[in-house]
Amino acid sequence: MSMRDDYQNLSDLLQDVVSATEAFHGALPERPVAARKRTGGPSTDLPGHGIGGKAALREFLDQFGGDLSGSVGSRYFGFVTGGATPASIAGDWLAGAVDQNVASPGDSVAVAITVQALNWLKQLFNLPEASYDGAFTTGATGANFACLLAAREWAGEKAGYDIARKGLAGGPPIAIYSACPHASFVKVARFSGLGEDSIHAIARIGNTEEMDPNALEAALASAPADQQKIVCASAGTVTTTAFDDLVSIGSICRRYGAWLHVDGAFGLFARTVPELAGRTSGIEMADSITVDGHKWLNVPYDSGFYFTRRVDLIERAAGGLPAYLDVESDGLPHYINRVLEGSQRFRALPVWMTLCAYGADGVRETVRANVDQAAKLAAFLRDSPQFELLSPTTLNVVCFRGLPPDGVENADAWNKLLLAELNAGGTAFMTPGAYGGKGGIRAAFSNWQTRDEDLDQTIVALQTAHEAATRKGSLAA
Ligand SMILES: *Cc1c(COP(=O)(O)O)cnc(C)c1O
Repeated sequence: MSMRDDYQNLSDLLQDVVSATEAFHGALPERPVAARKRTGGPSTDLPGHGIGGKAALREFLDQFGGDLSGSVGSRYFGFVTGGATPASIAGDWLAGAVDQNVASPGDSVAVAITVQALNWLKQLFNLPEASYDGAFTTGATGANFACLLAAREWAGEKAGYDIARKGLAGGPPIAIYSACPHASFVKVARFSGLGEDSIHAIARIGNTEEMDPNALEAALASAPADQQKIVCASAGTVTTTAFDDLVSIGSICRRYGAWLHVDGAFGLFARTVPELAGRTSGIEMADSITVDGHKWLNVPYDSGFYFTRRVDLIERAAGGLPAYLDVESDGLPHYINRVLEGSQRFRALPVWMTLCAYGADGVRETVRANVDQAAKLAAFLRDSPQFELLSPTTLNVVCFRGLPPDGVENADAWNKLLLAELNAGGTAFMTPGAYGGKGGIRAAFSNWQTRDEDLDQTIVALQTAHEAATRKGSLAA
């Protein structure tokens, strides 16, 4: 079958995709939330001769359709996964189908739509529109990377040294200060050449994950005078959704001439609802901000974005444009100079579509519902004799563990068993969590589809898993 033949019947092929998508989404309420474990991938030879799009689709669905994760559904509480709104799915399909490259302006409206989508996001998060600029990335890791690159260039600029050109070796000493950096930030510290050891741990307040501003101030005050300082603050940590006090931290950063980066991958969404917005007060002082689209915004993977007051630093670090890319821009950005990637998918379209379709109200409704659901699950766990909360639930994440039966000594190991039982049951999916030296389970709410009925089903599944793990744990003890 030739591509040309397939293209002539494109609509027929796409109809099959529509049917498959309907079947997949229609089955989400019943199918196991996590896929069965497959050991080893299928091994087949590369086809020399193709079978055409329709047959290839059938082949994929027959062989693998049953083993997809139900992560887009309403009872998947792993990581911070987020779902996909109908309009964002449509936008994502269209982005693939029209296959625009937003690396450079000049031949498509896609770059202008990207600018608009980023402006809408600044409005959604109530950020001063004129002060921040940015770009879409593959996710919060990509956003953290771009932001750290900007901070690194800024550090060089302050010392009169061009790091992007000359490398770090002859540059100023650079230190990063953080209380609870996300694993991805540690990763980008490694990638950026600053190194993991450049991150100086700042004490937290009590037994929380929140940075102690006094400890930060003391660390900055005693740092060497020639050291350039980058502070990485959290707006929503992954285990306890802790928010650093950005009002205090922002003013300390100003006083000591430090760059303030805020990782708000999902926590920045607290800013979209008035009753939670106070937790991010002071964010206007941030020099750079990381946010995810594929989590609480509920657009498909992959989607993240960043904002910075100094996008010029990233553009400078990226270097000049080679002649073949130096197209007429009409004042629009060359996004190729704002992220690692050269060619870039039209990531703004699913975001634009979902914001156009449901507005800021749609985002607020999802955030409020998820926060409420997390509180309800936490209330059940707190009052249940079978479970205990490991940390207070203050946003959309519940960190807890099951109380093992008498005779079980290793509660952490028993909770792994409990989690395995829960996930094998197929009603709900959660991931491991640990807090205060205790291992347990973490449930994150970030899907527009989750309803209170899902919560009821999840509670029954937790009780069933607890019974099963109690039987197995007692046998082993
Ligand atoms: C998820 C997350 C990240 C990493 O995001 P990806 O989109 O997976 O790259 C970074 N920081 C925080 C706080 C997160 O929750």
